[in-house]
Amino acid sequence: MSRFLDPRYSGLKEYVPGEQPRDRKYIKLNTNESPFPPSASVMKCATESETADLRLYSDPSQTVLRKKLADHYGVKPENVLVGDGSDEVLNFCFMCFAHGRAAFADITYGFYKVLADLHSIETRIVPLADDFTVDPAKYEGIGIFTVIANPNAPTGIALKVSDIERIVASNPDSVVVVDEAYVDFGAESCLPLIEKYDNLAVVRTYSKSFSLAGARLGYCFADAGLISDLDRIRNSCNPYNVGRLSLLAGAAAIDDAAYYELNCGRIAVNREYTTAKLGELGFCVLPSSANFVFASHPGISGKELYSGLKERGILVRYFDLPRIDGHIRITIGTKEQTDALIAALSEMIGGDR
Ligand code: PMP
Repeated sequence: MSRFLDPRYSGLKEYVPGEQPRDRKYIKLNTNESPFPPSASVMKCATESETADLRLYSDPSQTVLRKKLADHYGVKPENVLVGDGSDEVLNFCFMCFAHGRAAFADITYGFYKVLADLHSIETRIVPLADDFTVDPAKYEGIGIFTVIANPNAPTGIALKVSDIERIVASNPDSVVVVDEAYVDFGAESCLPLIEKYDNLAVVRTYSKSFSLAGARLGYCFADAGLISDLDRIRNSCNPYNVGRLSLLAGAAAIDDAAYYELNCGRIAVNREYTTAKLGELGFCVLPSSANFVFASHPGISGKELYSGLKERGILVRYFDLPRIDGHIRITIGTKEQTDALIAALSEMIGGDR
């Protein structure tokens, strides 16, 4: 740290992203990326002429992609905003709507706490139940800005839309953000509720189900009033927040929606296979609606599982945090990757550690 850093930030605990190692080739099951490549139309986006156009700024109004998303999801373009990953959209939401206070679960996406700290927002941490489910009653009438990941991360457990609706309806004077980063893998989306509630923002990403983590594209659906607030902040931080090639890739991906739906189905099938195989090895696996599973084993700690797998060329995510340090989060990849994971775990659990 230099002596020039504003003291406001000197105690900031930064978000620690999952490893993106360059030292060797791993089976990468640690950051919930898709094992499948982007679709054919996306692959063709970076033409010579589009690449030459990189000398020009991108469209600050994101007109084409907003329209594309609006048409595909049955909303209006004024209900859509696009961000440099959903992390940026979440940042804008915290800046716009928190009014100094934010509620979210004790075990959820770690970035919420980082954003709260970044903006000096006081947090109301709402513990998950013992079985790691969200108790919607704890958010009913909470009266402050609320963020709920649905399905939750790293648990993978999803809430029903009716439960989310109760939360949104009971907090009419505070914004509720529903982070649907993993919704395409089997949970119910609360997108239809944005017509009914002006305090609901649904945040999504291209990073998981659309195989575009490296393009950094996220989006938000909400009442036009909320979108105009988010745009005010976006235009005040970085009006060209999404690059030209990413905007193109996002629109092209929508053209190939059927391909991505197929991939999500393949991941859901492999998630059930992975869960069954882990169960045979004595793991306890939470019921996941996402593209990852959260698993623990009575005989071996989360840290040991993580390091044993890493030694064997497989990366998973381990969180050294209360309540979940016995667990590892495993991204669902291909069946071949699962078989390699299960073989490595059998070796470790069979005593050959
Ligand atoms: N929300 C959740 C729940 C996530 O797990 C992630 C991925 N780390 C994100 C948002 C951010 O994704 P991105 O910025 O790649 O869109």
